[in-house]
Amino acid sequence: MGIVPACVAQVALDVPLDMAFDFRLPPGVSATPGTLVVVPFGRTQRVGVVVGLAAQSQVPEGRLRDVVRVVDDLAALDEQTLGLLSFCAQYYQRPLGEVLLTSLPPRLRQARRRRLRLPEPHAAPPHVIPDTAPTLTTEQADAVGRLRQHLGQFRASLLHGVTGSGKTEVYLQLIEAALALDKRALMLVPEIGLTPQLEGRVRARFPGERIALLHSQLGEGARAAEWVAAQSGSARIVLGTRLAALAPVPGLGLIVIDEEHDASYKQQDGLRYSARDVAIRRAQLAGVPVILGSATPSLESWANAAAGRYDLVSLTRRAMPDARLPRVSPVDTRADRPAEGLSNALLRALKDRVARGEQSLVFVNRRGFSPVLFCRACAWHAECTRCSANLVLHREDGRLRCHQCGLARPTPARCGQCGSPDLAPVGHGTQRLEEALHAALPGARIARVDRDAAARRGAVAATLAKLAAGSLDIVVGTQMLAKGHDFPRLTLVGIVDADAALYAADFRASERLFALLSQVAGRAGRAGTGGEVLIQTDFPGHPLYAAVAAHDYAGFAEACLAERRSASWPPYAHLAILRAESRDKALALAFLRTAARIARGLGSPVEVFDPVPAAVERRAGLERMQLLVRASSRQALQPFLARWREALDQRAERRVRWALDIDPLDT
Ligand code: ADP
Ligand code: ZN
Ligand code: ZN
Repeated sequence: MGIVPACVAQVALDVPLDMAFDFRLPPGVSATPGTLVVVPFGRTQRVGVVVGLAAQSQVPEGRLRDVVRVVDDLAALDEQTLGLLSFCAQYYQRPLGEVLLTSLPPRLRQARRRRLRLPEPHAAPPHVIPDTAPTLTTEQADAVGRLRQHLGQFRASLLHGVTGSGKTEVYLQLIEAALALDKRALMLVPEIGLTPQLEGRVRARFPGERIALLHSQLGEGARAAEWVAAQSGSARIVLGTRLAALAPVPGLGLIVIDEEHDASYKQQDGLRYSARDVAIRRAQLAGVPVILGSATPSLESWANAAAGRYDLVSLTRRAMPDARLPRVSPVDTRADRPAEGLSNALLRALKDRVARGEQSLVFVNRRGFSPVLFCRACAWHAECTRCSANLVLHREDGRLRCHQCGLARPTPARCGQCGSPDLAPVGHGTQRLEEALHAALPGARIARVDRDAAARRGAVAATLAKLAAGSLDIVVGTQMLAKGHDFPRLTLVGIVDADAALYAADFRASERLFALLSQVAGRAGRAGTGGEVLIQTDFPGHPLYAAVAAHDYAGFAEACLAERRSASWPPYAHLAILRAESRDKALALAFLRTAARIARGLGSPVEVFDPVPAAVERRAGLERMQLLVRASSRQALQPFLARWREALDQRAERRVRWALDIDPLDT
């Protein structure tokens, strides 16, 4: 007997079932695992990925349908990418088909589409002004030297560099070293839409290279083209947001994860993956080094470095000659009471900067005019009818908006409860601060950067360009401005209203606040003009602010880690959350109670908590509940999750939607 030719393709499809479907391969048509095929699905057609081949099928002859065609303008997914995506499916407890298909750009998932034009190899865009590398500081040179030694093998390194220490320069030199070995580099950034500066720097340093840019704000056609440029290898540098962690890159030699602590690396729906963790696994599969860079590393990464699992490489000084870390001081708002959100101390400092022709950033992590509209007569306040959230007043268009579900309605003239016209906006958002600044500093050139401003196409880019060109004095913004930006003329940062986050319930709240404040503070004084940061607070002695002021990440991290250890929170434990939502709260709760009973019955060394409401208990009319499980190791958690999910999958929950969130960031 010779080898029976494979005539059945096992195809993974984007369906909520964890199984592959058999299709007959017509004579003369061949496929390998990873080949994209179009198959009939009910009365329509779908794109699927071949995951196996067989000589025969269990499906009766008469019911076995034919593969419609092989997608032939696209190469098959390579073995390494398939391996990575299977790992994701397993680890995050999602069907393989869903993971495979959602890793593709939307256009390439369509059964009917125009043929792709393959990119020309190494075609670089015109009009890039090339830029040469600066002379490295001693610390940078040491870092590059150490990290370069890992090329050609798997090694995870944590590049802990204070803001402005020149981490990007280190990445660029390592990318160059990888390219010199004829390897490709994958660089992940948290939000590319907000870091055009970085894209520009990479392009300027590698003017001859085709760089594939992957993020969700690209149009469908462009996104498919960039993905193909990565997959075909015509781009030797792949730069993108979390979804780029899943894109195929042949001949990979290096992975860089910039701002590795950033929460936007975690996807919050569907495949709830951490692009950082997936990228580390990917480096391991590919046998290449991965560099995690941050001024404020996640505690997970810091603990990994402390335990010797990651190499720790530090940059302790700013790179530009004479640049120092900014001076950070609290403004005691119990004594210096802010009017319209601004203390006298901050106003004075702003005036000084405007007079000197320097720039300032006023940071408030809340968009809109004010977060609450309050009735002074009866204490009623405007709430969303569909969410457990207050409606935020937006003055620009006179509307109340829900930041959870997007509901918008006209601002009422009278109280919804007692009819009094005495309604007062309470608290300060970006719009209100912008208005207050205009009033207090007439003539100053002021702009705002937040998600509302970003809704106007190109508006944020225009503001950033003005800031870079020096034609703005003050910018008011949310955390969109916290990351990565490098504005040499910016010497003052004012932080308004950070106190609320000091006492949040989530065990990660202080880690997050420290990172955010350090990042925002890090925007000041990057070019040696002496930066200053003023934090308005009712708690000027709070240890978190003291740590920010001392630029003492390490001390802060040690203290947090000690707390985590004694409370058995990550990184000293591993978590998963079963999230459930339903129109009917009782149903969600009943589902989670059953799930908890099943979990406890599995006899795994896993701690099962009781169901509790989610942080935002109701959103868009859905009641949201969650159930936390905790284990001392991944090795204990993973098999438990697989069995738990299998048991849950067998229950037909009609009016409850549920999902597992592995290594959740919001607990
Ligand atoms: P980070 O990413 O660590 O916050 P950047 O890479 O943005 O820091 O560098 C901060 C600033 O220092 C940038 O303006 C950059 O051009 C500059 N810079 C970096 N390395 C050097 C160097 N070796 N010499 C002079 N300037 C440098
Ligand atoms: Zn009232
Ligand atoms: Zn709402």
